[in-house]
Amino acid sequence: MGVRWQHLREGRSGRAYGLLGGSNLGAVVSGEAALVIDAGLDKDAARKLIRALEGVEARPVALLITHGHADHFGGAAALLRRAPMPLYAPPFEAHFIEEPRLEPLFLHGGAAAIRSLQGKFTQARRGAEVTAFLAPGPLEIGPFRVEIVPLPGHAPRQVGIGWEEVLFCGDALFPQATLDRHPILFCHDLDAWLETLAAFPALMARYRLVLPGHGEPVEAEEALALAEANADRLREIRARVLEALRVPASPEAILAEVAAAYGLDFPSPPFHLLSRVTILAALTSLERSGEAEPFVVDNRLLWRRC
Ligand SMILES: [Zn+2]
Repeated sequence: MGVRWQHLREGRSGRAYGLLGGSNLGAVVSGEAALVIDAGLDKDAARKLIRALEGVEARPVALLITHGHADHFGGAAALLRRAPMPLYAPPFEAHFIEEPRLEPLFLHGGAAAIRSLQGKFTQARRGAEVTAFLAPGPLEIGPFRVEIVPLPGHAPRQVGIGWEEVLFCGDALFPQATLDRHPILFCHDLDAWLETLAAFPALMARYRLVLPGHGEPVEAEEALALAEANADRLREIRARVLEALRVPASPEAILAEVAAAYGLDFPSPPFHLLSRVTILAALTSLERSGEAEPFVVDNRLLWRRC
């Protein structure tokens, strides 16, 4: 996939950029210093970012990671090797950044990961040591004043990074193209994500431009439409899971039914396992609301409506 360095906004205290590719990196440049947001998939992303920053005569002074998924932190180790600097990440997410084997491990239900989960999209080649945790609220790093915005749901403790009018929102919003290609979007906590998306109107009163973790930067109005589209999809998945519980069913059977409803045909185990997490998140949501419950019969774990 082609990678593009794009100027996003001219601000009072600097300029915001995006390195747009398979997964996006952000940068805020003030004088010769650059604050980097996310590290991309691998060392290639790190190399391209360093080169892009050299092009604007800036040097990275801090790296902030929005969440602990390999396509957002996989380039961190290479980036830190080329440009030693502090690495900031939310608590919880930090464990995944420091220990890349955790992501394939949890996708495989806690067991040692199967081979196909050890590719770099689900297991970063190298971890990186986190220097400090990102807590919600204002944060000053050198010349940069940013706001750490909690955006949980897609990942447990994901955060966005707000700078002046720009919000780097990680995977809180997926672009329409991703919603079309991967209808069962990866979700850790469906209720938390819906709450995060419901907060976008308030966020867009403050920020005018959003750079999601994938796809193009969007102005406030489009961000609001995307927040609606993401929320609609999550609610639709939840409804389809409940619909699949006409009779007691296993998570596997529910996933097969919901996937068929979206016309999906998973090409390999990772696609199945990633979507399975979203189905489980929907089931957790249904248990919380008292609409469904798990039970065991004949040593099989099934779900039924309450
Ligand atoms: Zn992600």
